[in-house]
Amino acid sequence: MILKKFSHFDCAAAVMLAAFLSFAMPHTVYGQESTSDSLPSYPADPEIAAALKDVSAKRIQDNIEKLVSFGTRLTLSAQDAQSIAAGRGIGAAREWIKAEFERYSKDCGGCLEIKTDTFTQAAGERVPQPVQLTNVYAVLKGTDPENAKRIVLVTGHYDSRNSDTLDAKGDAPGANDDGSGTAVSLECARVLSKHKFPATIIFLTVAGEEQGLYGSKHFAEMAKTQGWNIEAALNNDIVGGDRNPDQDTNVVRVFSEGLPQVATEQQIKLIRGLGGESDSISRELARYIADIGRTYDTGIKPMLVFRLDRYLRGGDHISFNQAGYAAVRFTEYHEDFHHQHQNIRTENGIEYGDLPKFVNFDYVSHVARVNAATLASVAAAPAPPANVHLQTKDLTNDSTLTWDPPPGGRATAYEIVWRATTSPEWEHARHVDKGTSVTLKLSKDNVIFAIRAVDDKGHRSLPVVPTPQR
Ligand SMILES: [Zn+2]
Repeated sequence: MILKKFSHFDCAAAVMLAAFLSFAMPHTVYGQESTSDSLPSYPADPEIAAALKDVSAKRIQDNIEKLVSFGTRLTLSAQDAQSIAAGRGIGAAREWIKAEFERYSKDCGGCLEIKTDTFTQAAGERVPQPVQLTNVYAVLKGTDPENAKRIVLVTGHYDSRNSDTLDAKGDAPGANDDGSGTAVSLECARVLSKHKFPATIIFLTVAGEEQGLYGSKHFAEMAKTQGWNIEAALNNDIVGGDRNPDQDTNVVRVFSEGLPQVATEQQIKLIRGLGGESDSISRELARYIADIGRTYDTGIKPMLVFRLDRYLRGGDHISFNQAGYAAVRFTEYHEDFHHQHQNIRTENGIEYGDLPKFVNFDYVSHVARVNAATLASVAAAPAPPANVHLQTKDLTNDSTLTWDPPPGGRATAYEIVWRATTSPEWEHARHVDKGTSVTLKLSKDNVIFAIRAVDDKGHRSLPVVPTPQR
């Protein structure tokens, strides 16, 4: 800023001025007093805390039961006008979701924009002939023009299936898979639409998941093609807290990828050199969610799983990862496979089928709170700092970090966080009030750093891990 003021100076004067400034105002060098660097407990934003109290297990139950009432929501099931009128098939489910979003929008003076993303999915595995797919979403536009370009998104898939992925006629209630995730997206829309945020929030429900992630793939590719700045995508799939004896209702699993799907050979080489295998943008999002779980009273704790998804399995967050976005998956702690992808029946005394009676609606409401708190926190925070670097020109045991203020101009301070290379979560933090560089008496050989932007109310952006700069 100061240099800009004197930009009419000739070059030599500018160099002298820079030398003077660096002498007069050396950037701060901090010592290694680890006790004073312990991670603070972050204050809850009272408005966000109040919004979370609005999340209703009863509404979630009503919505899941409504979704089940359409009989089947298989992507290949009926979507003609007659079936929609009769209330059976995926078309009827789609129209109801749209109407529900529109109702929430009416209650907030038209604050939501309801949109559909419709396309024809070509025939392929699990799609015997071309089929029309529709993703339904509601947009709560950010109130700050520059920050409104930043998007945070929640999604669930509203399609369902039974034992046969091609059975378009038989019942496929899909109460947990994924009526629960769809209900989370709807409830977040209802609750958060009563509030305003500088950044944009999208509440998405997709089709085609059970046939091969087709809906999310189309949506994420559209976002990428149109250059949408999605900072975080939260996928909720099977968050019903199935009432089996091994369920732990105190935790929800949060899956995040380690090595990014989109990393090039060159980027993987750098990740290998830096020991950055556990610092993808999706993993930083997962850590952010763990923080949210400590800050807000949601009734549940995020349990981070450092894996793309459950062992060899997949979900809609992967479509967002493949488009280069930070995305994680929420799933209940203990799944019951008798209640997933099964025709409704009783065999040898075992009840099969994905029915509402196995869903714990209180549990779903707790998961919805973690989601709502995360969406609200990211949307209320400044954008993450830009051009974040760790200086490596000289071999030294100090660590100098430099960055640029985030676009959108809402950062009033920064926070450096770090952890031992063997630790899963951030362990230390240092508040930086002024400037955009800092030197810490800590060796970059031994820790992993990240920087986040902070606003005047204490909202923190997603953290950014520095890249080396010579
Ligand atoms: Zn699913």
